[in-house]
Amino acid sequence: MTSSEIRESFLRFFRERAHTIVPSAPLLPDSPNLLFTNAGMNQFVPIFLGQVPCPYSPPRAADTQKCIRAGGKHNDLEEVGFDTYHHTFFEMLGNWSFGDYFKKEAISWAWELLTHCWGFPPTRLYATVYEPGPEEPGEFDAESHAVWSSLFAAAGCDPEIHVAKFGKADNFWMMGETGPCGPCSEVHVDLTPEGKSRGRLLNQADPRCLEVWNLVFIQYDARGDGSLSLLPARHVDTGMGLERIASIVQGTQGFRDFSRRISNYDTDLFRPLLRTLEKLSGRPYGGAVPEPGGLAEQADVAFRVIVDHFRALAFAIADGILPSNVGRGYVLRRILRRATRFGRTLGLRAPFLPELLPALLSTMGEAFPELVETEDRIASVLAAEETLFAKTLERGLALFEDLAAEAAKRKNRMIAGEEAFLLYDTYGFPLDLTELMARERGLSVDTQGFAESMEKQRNRSAAAREEDLLSVAAQSEFVGYEELEAEAEVVLLLAGNRAVF
Ligand code: ATP
Ligand code: MG
Ligand code: MG
Ligand code: MG
Repeated sequence: MTSSEIRESFLRFFRERAHTIVPSAPLLPDSPNLLFTNAGMNQFVPIFLGQVPCPYSPPRAADTQKCIRAGGKHNDLEEVGFDTYHHTFFEMLGNWSFGDYFKKEAISWAWELLTHCWGFPPTRLYATVYEPGPEEPGEFDAESHAVWSSLFAAAGCDPEIHVAKFGKADNFWMMGETGPCGPCSEVHVDLTPEGKSRGRLLNQADPRCLEVWNLVFIQYDARGDGSLSLLPARHVDTGMGLERIASIVQGTQGFRDFSRRISNYDTDLFRPLLRTLEKLSGRPYGGAVPEPGGLAEQADVAFRVIVDHFRALAFAIADGILPSNVGRGYVLRRILRRATRFGRTLGLRAPFLPELLPALLSTMGEAFPELVETEDRIASVLAAEETLFAKTLERGLALFEDLAAEAAKRKNRMIAGEEAFLLYDTYGFPLDLTELMARERGLSVDTQGFAESMEKQRNRSAAAREEDLLSVAAQSEFVGYEELEAEAEVVLLLAGNRAVF
C-alpha cells in the first residue's frame, strides 16, 4: 500500500461506518493556548466542551489532520532526525464520536481496520489501558481492558501479555495544560525480527516497539488550576500517525519481512525528498540511526532533519504562518535555521530548501492542494529566510568552533551563557541550535546564563527605550514598542521551552 492508499482506506473505513469526512484544520490553531495544531481533536474542542452543537449526523467524524509538534506540551523537535519516527510535521489520521459510540466500538473498529483490512498480525500488536497510579485521576479502565482481552484471546494471543496497564504519563491524554482530556488506550506494534518482545518494550521509547494509534476517551475538561471537571458527554478521539503506519506496512513489505529496521524515512512520503537531497548534495543517505544516548552519524541525521523540517516549513507557510521573531513565527524561524545549518553539514549552500518543493508537491500536492496553490509563496519565503540566515551563518559557525574548543578545555564542558547569547544576538543562532551543535560534540550550554544575558539586554533596551521616549516625546514623534515586545516574547518563549525540553 502506498501512503495515499493508507490515507484513503482509513477514511473509507470510517465513512462506511457513518462518519462524516472533514477537511484537516489549518496548522494555525484557533486557540491562543496552542502554538500549532498538534492533534486531530483541536478543531473539535468547542464541541467537546459543549459550546457548539455537533454539526454531523450521526455525530461522528474522521479526517487526516496536519500537525506540528515543535513547542508547548507536545514538543518533539529534539527527537527529529535522531530517531526515525518523531516528526515536527506529521499527519494524524483520526475518528471521533461526539457523545455517540464509546470504548467498545472505538476499540473493535481499530482492531478490525488494523488486523482485517490492513493485515497487521495480531501476534505483533499490544494494547495499553489506563490504570491510575497513586494521586492520579480517574479509575482503572476495566471496560477497555475487557474489550481488548477478548479480541486478543479470539485471535489466539494471550491477553495477559498483549494488554498492559499504564498510568497517567502514558495513558491519560491532554492536548495542553488545559482543555478536553481523558484516559486513553493505545496500540503498539512489536517490530523485533522475532516478534517476541512480550510487551517488555512498551512505552520505552524503543524503536523496536512503536506506538501507532491512540484512542482517547474524552471525559474531562482540565482547568487552569490543575483540576478536572466532568464534561456534559463522553467522546471518542483517536489519532494515528500516517507516517508510522506507512513505515510498518512498507518496511515489512506487507508484514512479510520483519528483519529490517523500520523507518518513517523509508516510505514513499520521504523517499522522493531524500532522493532530491542526495542529488543536491552528491551524497548518499545511509539510514544510520544513533544508538540511544550515543552521538549521531551526522550526515544521516542531517538528511532526516532537513526533509522533516522542510515539510513543516512548507505546510506552515502554506497555512499562512511566517517565520518571525515572536511566538510561533519564531519557532518556525528556529526550525528553518536548524535545517539550513544541517544543510551545511551536507555541504549545501543556502538557499536550497525551495529545491525540495517539486518532490513535496508530487507526493502530497493531491491530498493537500493548498501546497500547490501557495507554491510561489512557499518558495519565496524559504529563499528569503535562508538567505537572511546565510549572511551570518558562516561567521557564526566560525565563532562557534572557537567557543566549542574553549568549552572542551573546561571541566564542565559548557558553553557560557553570554557566549551563546552572542551567537544568538549577533549571528542569529537560536539557543536550541547552539545547544544541538554543542550536543554533537559532547558539550552543553549554560541556558540559565543565556536567559540572564537576554534579561540584561532587555533591561538595557528598556532603559534606552525610556530615554528614547523622553527625547521622542520632546520631539512629539512616537516610534512604538514593537522591537521591545519582540524581545520580551523571545524571553517568554525560551522560559516556556526550558520547562519542556
Ligand atoms: P510518542 O509516545 O511516540 O511520542 P505520543 O503518545 O506523544 O507518541 P499521541 O499524542 O498519542 O502521541 O498522538 C497519537 C499518534 O500520533 C501516535 O500514536 C503516533 O502514531 C502519532 N504521533 C505522535 N507524535 C508524532 C510525531 N512527532 N511524529 C509522527 N507521528 C506522531
Ligand atoms: Mg510524544
Ligand atoms: Mg506515547
Ligand atoms: Mg500516545
